[in-house]
Amino acid sequence: MGPRPWLLWLMWMFLGLYLAGLMAHGKAFNPLVDLWLGLPASWAPAAVAGLAAYRARNRALALVAMALAAFAAGSTVYVTSLAGSSSLPFPSSADIGYLLFYPLVLGGLFVYLLPLRQRLARSVLLDAVVGSLGAASVLVVLLSPLLSAADGFPSFATSVAVAYPLLDLVVLAVTAGMAAVPGLATGRSGVILMLGLLVFAAADVAYAFRLENDTYYLGTPLDAGWTAGLCLIAAWAESFTREGAAANGASEGAWTPAVPMVATAAGLGVLIVGTGIPVPELAVGLAAATLLSAGIRTQLAFRQLVTLAEVRRQSRTDELTGLPNRRALYADAPAVLDAQQGAPCAFLLLDADRFKEINDSLGHDVGDRLLVQVSERLRRCLGPDDLIARLGGDEFAVLLLNAGEQEALELADRLRAALSEPLTLRGIALQVGVSVGIAMFPEQGKDLKTLLRKADTAMYRAKTSRTGRHVYASEDHSTGEERLRMLQELRIALAEGELILHYQPKVDAVTGETKGVEALVRWNHPRHGLLAPGSFLLLVEEGGLMNALNDCVLTLALDQAALWQTKGRPMTVAANLSASSLIDAELPGRIAAMLRERALPASALMVEITEDFMMPDRVRARDILAGLQASGVRVAIDDFGTGYSSLAYLRDLPINELKLDRSFIVSMTEDPRAAALVASTINLAHSLGLTVVAEGVEDGDALDQLGRYGCDQAQGFHILRPVPPAELDDWFSTFPLGSGLPSA
Ligand code: C2E
Ligand code: CA
Ligand code: CA
Repeated sequence: MGPRPWLLWLMWMFLGLYLAGLMAHGKAFNPLVDLWLGLPASWAPAAVAGLAAYRARNRALALVAMALAAFAAGSTVYVTSLAGSSSLPFPSSADIGYLLFYPLVLGGLFVYLLPLRQRLARSVLLDAVVGSLGAASVLVVLLSPLLSAADGFPSFATSVAVAYPLLDLVVLAVTAGMAAVPGLATGRSGVILMLGLLVFAAADVAYAFRLENDTYYLGTPLDAGWTAGLCLIAAWAESFTREGAAANGASEGAWTPAVPMVATAAGLGVLIVGTGIPVPELAVGLAAATLLSAGIRTQLAFRQLVTLAEVRRQSRTDELTGLPNRRALYADAPAVLDAQQGAPCAFLLLDADRFKEINDSLGHDVGDRLLVQVSERLRRCLGPDDLIARLGGDEFAVLLLNAGEQEALELADRLRAALSEPLTLRGIALQVGVSVGIAMFPEQGKDLKTLLRKADTAMYRAKTSRTGRHVYASEDHSTGEERLRMLQELRIALAEGELILHYQPKVDAVTGETKGVEALVRWNHPRHGLLAPGSFLLLVEEGGLMNALNDCVLTLALDQAALWQTKGRPMTVAANLSASSLIDAELPGRIAAMLRERALPASALMVEITEDFMMPDRVRARDILAGLQASGVRVAIDDFGTGYSSLAYLRDLPINELKLDRSFIVSMTEDPRAAALVASTINLAHSLGLTVVAEGVEDGDALDQLGRYGCDQAQGFHILRPVPPAELDDWFSTFPLGSGLPSA
């Protein structure tokens, strides 16, 4: 940690001694208190901030440190001249230092907040404006006795005297604006900064009022008010450098628009008061501006919701065929299946045979038109209630309601027959064959994901066996015996540590700075080699081994996090939890204990949960997530956009981060609708105070585009594939924190 905490403690100690001295001594100049305690107490914050600025090589902090030093210099002039002559003219050279504090600190804040501008949604910026204006209008009313000194032709002395409350007003208004920004208002260090500014300005205003009423005496605890403010600001500067990567993300949090609401009410209040008693015109103007910007804010929120709904609707249809797409299927199927109340349904997955050949030899154009005709023929074979969707490429899905295996097979035959009639395109007669895989609801799968997986297995079977259609049977997945053996092996793997984690960085979409890593499980199988989770997660789930897997993954991930922490590179590790893990009420407690055992802060861990996690038991899942979040572990919604959730319910859930599914990102650079959906999801997520992470960033164009949309973080092969921890360390040493992206 070095000498910094030591200096910090010294700073607080001086503040304490100074305050104690003021309280003990009383209303008069006292060299011991005002000189020997007061001056070190006001220089210590400047030293702390200066050192922090130097360490972080940060311009904002440097300006803040200069502001603190300017103020301390002003105090030095003031106090030493008191010690000498005991009367000081007004204004004096001390005022130069005092006044310089304001532009320097505001400049520092400006440099600090400026980068936020790109990443905050317009709505949040407007919230900040509303907050600032509302605060300013109320303050103008409160400070009007002080400000009215400036009426008429001000002398130099009165302008200096009025400058202080006016500058305090600006500082307070900026602070109110900051309080409206979720990341700043909920992060610990942001609160310290705002508190510091508040204390400082409050001391100054109190001083001005007392001076105005002739009730100010030197040597009261009020004198330590400025210093206390400076100390808090310095403490913020210090935490800025210390909090490192793990805390970077701690600046996010759920948010309710309290500040803009209070500010709007305040602006309204000023206007109402203004109808009864005279209030300064400036206050009325500011109040009106508050209400105006609040109005724009509401309008914007409304517009966002409308566009989002529109984009969502558009994004549900497949552009080429006009059929519902994969997203629509994911969105609608759960409700449809639910309404079945257990009555049997068949899920059919269709895949055109040799379509790639047609595409390659006759061109995409012909391929596209072929797909249009195929989709028309398929649709004609279906009833009005059956669901059909194009999943992408040459894959289609059909959900046949109230049908058993027999009906499903009959439909498959009808569909195949409909396509066996040749299609003519550019004078060429083409015959398209399809293979159909069938999975039965509910006995083979109660949710879409399972049905899809099983139908896919069955489809593969249909293709390879050339029967053209096949109903899933458990032997398809693996024969019963083999499955049992795998399960046995999996138990051993869990006990013997054959499961390992690979890590993939999540980086800042603009600067490339690493914000954390996602842990992805791999099975180091003795015979089959390294297996991806897709090939064994289903088995884990079916074999009831999910809790064991979670414990194993969490242990590995947290051990690694502890290792990184001791290496001086604190890192947030995100672990994936399956939906079924959210039934386990003990989970938050176990996780807290695991963190404690390793002396890790809660910010070292994050959990990712897929979007449809609310399926099994909503209330319970929500409680478990809330428990995790209360302990400081952040929660991400994974694969956002593939499930059936709506943004509206995101608002009610304890969530910090939204991970946009790969499918959007991959299509974004080509499909303007996917791009629009990404952009508006980012915006809305931001106005809910969520961080947005884009998954599956596979090229530089996508990354640039995401940066422009204000996406916070990116993850994908373009940045780095998931790799073992040693390789990640190598990568870090080639591209250290904050050094930007590899120029791939
Ligand atoms: P996920 O959570 O969505 O993880 C991201 C997946 O996308 C990973 O696949 C990763 O290798 C892959 N990926 C990352 N960047 C790119 C890219 O640019 N392009 C493409 N095409 N793919 C990319 P992986 O490792 O095979 O994991 C698959 C899924 O298995 C994960 O999806 C997650 O849902 C699940 N999973 C992984 N580890 C665990 C675990 O420890 N526990 C549980 N319950 N599930 C896990
Ligand atoms: Ca994940
Ligand atoms: Ca994902």
